[in-house]
Amino acid sequence: MRLILLGAPGAGKGTVAKMLTAIDGSVQISTGDILRAAVKAGTELGMKAKAAMESGGLVSDDLIMGIMKDRLQEDDCKSGFLLDGFPRTIPQAEALKVLLADLGISLDATVNLNVPRDVILDRLTTRRTCEDCGAIYNVKSNPPKVEGVCDKCGGNVVQRADETEEAISKRLDVFNEQTAPLVGFYEKEGNLLDVNATSSDAVVAAIKAKVGIA
Ligand code: ADP
Ligand code: ZN
Repeated sequence: MRLILLGAPGAGKGTVAKMLTAIDGSVQISTGDILRAAVKAGTELGMKAKAAMESGGLVSDDLIMGIMKDRLQEDDCKSGFLLDGFPRTIPQAEALKVLLADLGISLDATVNLNVPRDVILDRLTTRRTCEDCGAIYNVKSNPPKVEGVCDKCGGNVVQRADETEEAISKRLDVFNEQTAPLVGFYEKEGNLLDVNATSSDAVVAAIKAKVGIA
């Protein structure tokens, strides 16, 4: 399947994407994961992105479109893709529309994951992420078996640098100002699936129904 996953930080886009990849072999494309890997590796892209990311701001549209133009043409995208954290601004959505038309690719749906703000805040402050494979844990509801060690790959499970209270509040403001308008954009484009995302299982069920998977 080919989907855009829209939603606030902490809405569960990454969790839902990982559940869907297991169903039909589509690949999860998380711009946040790509950027974090670049920062960790100290590449030129990483150096350009680091400051904006750590403060909770956005990386420039040009940089993001450069990444995505290449990424969407890689071979593994032929089995479908789940866009997680992209597009995040109206200019990115417009550029994506042109890019997909050029590549002759159409999307099955854009899924908007709705979660109340208090649930989001609680999720983000208790979230922990594997530095190596991106697996997501929660100190309260889903801790790794050994504290600080990823169940899946043995990597370090850490609190992200942008998950301090200050950066979280900035990310939510940036989301409301720059990303929330994409819901209207995709409503006009058609094929928007609006879901209550308090339960990731329910989101996956709604998506399967929408794209016609049993
Ligand atoms: P979130 O949990 O907030 O959805 P992500 O892992 O998607 O976080 O992104 C982390 C950070 O990476 C963002 O706060 C932003 O700085 C940067 N980033 C990720 N995707 C994009 C994008 N499409 N456009 C601009 N910046 C992005
Ligand atoms: Zn891991």
